[in-house]
Amino acid sequence: MLKAAKFGGSSVAGAEQFKKVKNIIEADPSRRIVVVSAAGKRSADDHKLTDLLYLCHAHLTYGVSCDEIMQTIEQRLAEIRSELALRYDVEGEVEALRARLDRSMSVDELVSRGEYFTARLMAEYLGYAFVDAADCIFFGFDGQLDRERTDRAIAAALAEHGRILIPGFYGRLPTGKIKVMSRGGSDITGALAAAATGADVYENWTDVSGILMADPRIVNDPRPIEKVTYAELRELAYMGASVMHEESIQPVKEKGIALNIRNTNRPDDPGTLIVGDALDRDDGERFITGIAGKRDFTIITVTKRDMNANHTLCQALEIMDRYHAPVEHITLGLDSFALVSGSNAMGDALYDVLADLRKTCRPDDVRVEDDIALVAAVGRKMSSRPGISGRLFKALGDSGVNIRTIAQGADELAITVGVDNKDFETAIRVMYNGFAL
Ligand code: ASP
Repeated sequence: MLKAAKFGGSSVAGAEQFKKVKNIIEADPSRRIVVVSAAGKRSADDHKLTDLLYLCHAHLTYGVSCDEIMQTIEQRLAEIRSELALRYDVEGEVEALRARLDRSMSVDELVSRGEYFTARLMAEYLGYAFVDAADCIFFGFDGQLDRERTDRAIAAALAEHGRILIPGFYGRLPTGKIKVMSRGGSDITGALAAAATGADVYENWTDVSGILMADPRIVNDPRPIEKVTYAELRELAYMGASVMHEESIQPVKEKGIALNIRNTNRPDDPGTLIVGDALDRDDGERFITGIAGKRDFTIITVTKRDMNANHTLCQALEIMDRYHAPVEHITLGLDSFALVSGSNAMGDALYDVLADLRKTCRPDDVRVEDDIALVAAVGRKMSSRPGISGRLFKALGDSGVNIRTIAQGADELAITVGVDNKDFETAIRVMYNGFAL
């Protein structure tokens, strides 16, 4: 068994968190690949190292002294070093960086130092070999990840050292310069490391016990999802659930490596396990994996007798495409269909779309309704249970929620209903309380 464990900013925010990480690593010798973010916030009013470094670069750009910020950074790192009785020369390293600070310092190099310093401290504390991301995460000239070279370098580092620690978030361009990924990019580094080494599991350690079944701002204390497939997760993410970014999952997803989201502060919680395919024989009664939704959609309903013979739907889709109006859902009747599109994404193109629809399709009627929300119940197990949608619609009806559109994907992974914006939260609560518990 081989595990790659990535620890986010809050998991490495200070000496106390470092101790928790060490306990986790020592509890399981198969955790041989570790990736860390830069030290994050220790409390709500604290600052992430990465944010301080971005601020520092802004000061440089405007010729304002960043002495104070560098001092804060040095203090935070030195505190960790001293409390954990490490030898790493924080002062010397920060001093050396300071000496190089001028307008020519690239923002990428400067902000990458948050991960670099944090990783140096953590590597010493865990007794793992520090492998600089500049030596194992490679970008091509086009700025895209060079996966082959990256895979080779990480696998070689693991083979050489046995236990490695890599700073997240950055890598090296062919020019030798450092390039950072998008914010939160350490998740990508972790996934790359897991994929490169053929790990059995990619553990993503954070400060929540997994992905929640519904938005906690709407549902009181929702349960975490125990197991979810990558396909379900994609549906939930698309419908607005706050889960890991698709790009950061890709390297492990394509290799079929399981991803386990865990809580550094509650290491005994199993967290959420994301897998390629789930065998659900003993998974209990719950058949909805999660519920997510988004507000502010527009429904365009077109009515035309004999619309099939007239290729009306096809024409309408071409029109939507022409004006870059994304079609999220289609519901189809004999003489009518409804296209659901994000109101903001469509914007003023709505008027062009309507004019074109009238001209091209010559419909009997066109209706537009705004302020629609889409709510999706996602669950791989729904397809094997008859009567789910009937019960779902009844529960919504009993709670006074008027369903405006219904759509079920061909893979039966999600049932999505369109409701009035004002019924958005009620619909989510009804679905959660009635079906997710
Ligand atoms: N430190 C970087 C950020 O704050 C990357 C990461 O945390 O994953 O975005």
